Amino acid sequence: KLIVIEGIDGTGKSTQATMLAEALRKQGHEVVQSHEPTDGPWGKKLRESATTGRLTIEQELEYFLKDREQHVEELILPTVFKGGMVILDRYYFSSMAYQGARGIDPQEIRQKNEAFAPLPHILIILDLDVDTALDRIGVRDGEANEFEKRDALQFCRDLFLGLADEPFAHVIDASQEIEAVHREVLELCKS
Ligand code: C5P
Repeated sequence: KLIVIEGIDGTGKSTQATMLAEALRKQGHEVVQSHEPTDGPWGKKLRESATTGRLTIEQELEYFLKDREQHVEELILPTVFKGGMVILDRYYFSSMAYQGARGIDPQEIRQKNEAFAPLPHILIILDLDVDTALDRIGVRDGEANEFEKRDALQFCRDLFLGLADEPFAHVIDASQEIEAVHREVLELCKS
């Protein structure tokens, strides 16, 4: 099974991914926890460019696609075929959101990804309003990048919420306490 956790910055994706992985392992499942961008060569280049800003938006999308192709081929599909569970902190829905916020058509991003990347069995969208998210990630009022960040996160939040109608998608209120979010996540993944 492929379980994907998405949401804007500050929603607690990695915390929830780790808690879910532990709970499913206790139930006896083979679980592989991973994230995107990955720690592979393309993922490393993407992280570097986040600080140096040296990639164009088209190059960025291309690197995300290459990173994901490798991830799908080397980790995601082999684990699912063995009957294991893969828990991902971000997947191509984040590309639709973040590269979409930078100006590329999200539907075009989706098509490029779905040409090779399997649909998740479960997509968990951790939803949080942008003000709370900015507080949690420590972006302060009046900070230089505040408005840019706010607009981008609002775009991303709306995009994620727009996926809620997909048959595999579930939205969870991420403003709740960590344990309460975890219980909802686990309940969705039990069957
Ligand atoms: O997953 P994590 O919170 O570490 O992501 C950090 C940043 O990576 C996000 O704030 C976002 O700006 C960026 N990102 C991106 N495009 C993606 C995924 C993440 O720009 N597809």
